[in-house]
Amino acid sequence: MRIDELFGVRGKVVLVTGGSRGIGEMIARGFVTNGAKVYISSRKADACNELAAELSREGECIALPADLARMDEVERLAAEIARREPKLHVLVNNAGAAWLEPVETFSEKGWDRVVDLNLKSLFFLTARLVATLAAAGVPGDPARVINVGSIDGLEPPAMETYPYSASKAGVHQLTGHLAKFLGDRNIAVNAIAPGYFPTKMTEWAKDGESAMLDRVPMKRPGAPEDMAGTALFLASKAGAYLSGAVIRVDGGLLANARSI
Ligand code: NAP
Repeated sequence: MRIDELFGVRGKVVLVTGGSRGIGEMIARGFVTNGAKVYISSRKADACNELAAELSREGECIALPADLARMDEVERLAAEIARREPKLHVLVNNAGAAWLEPVETFSEKGWDRVVDLNLKSLFFLTARLVATLAAAGVPGDPARVINVGSIDGLEPPAMETYPYSASKAGVHQLTGHLAKFLGDRNIAVNAIAPGYFPTKMTEWAKDGESAMLDRVPMKRPGAPEDMAGTALFLASKAGAYLSGAVIRVDGGLLANARSI
């Protein structure tokens, strides 16, 4: 029952996709600071290498760049992790993209780009790493898959980002479906559904930020500690009995949207 045993992640091996900036960086930083060995992956090698070098000053962080919108790259990343690590304790499927277009002219390119990255690659990266995750999981302390969904996958968003909301709803459904079939391999699968966190993806919202924050009961955007703390909890002994859960980290925004 000691807090360091309940919530500690020291010595765990973690892969964070989209770990070079934004929410992935918040999560990667939280794990590195608390003694985990963290691999970060995203397309731009420079950004990955730069952050890995910075985080390596306080712990262990390794850059493994990959374009996860492509199946061959998903396979390559999974094989590289399996080659380097006999056990993967935590897989954070965070890489994601959004695309905004009016419904009548929505492009196939935009649809495929979002769904391929947010949903297809999340499924296949997890699938290709099942054996490496299963090698880390034991009864009472399973390996963890943490999928980053979105509140946009729970309620229709304000913008015309159709493949984004559909892919995130798919992420939440896949979370439960994978939890059902991977539990007996000692792998727990949960999702975080963030509300508004200021990142490159949400730069467009800067202008209307104060009106938007007015609808958030907590009256503030998400902070790095909010995201890292939830991921650390899900990865720790304290989170060992959660599987198939979708945890909203939105300052109450969705609760407010649902009020009459
Ligand atoms: P972000 O700042 O744009 O970061 C996205 C990350 O994904 C970057 O590291 C990016 O690096 C990587 N990425 C993009 N395309 C990729 C690809 N094809 N292959 C591999 N990596 C790729 O966005 P964010 O806000 O942190 O979003 C992270 C996750 O949180 C996403 O799944 C997003 O849907 C979710 N989310 C965010 C919010 C929010 O308010 N920010 C709310 C709800 C959900 P490269 O460009 O170098 O590839």
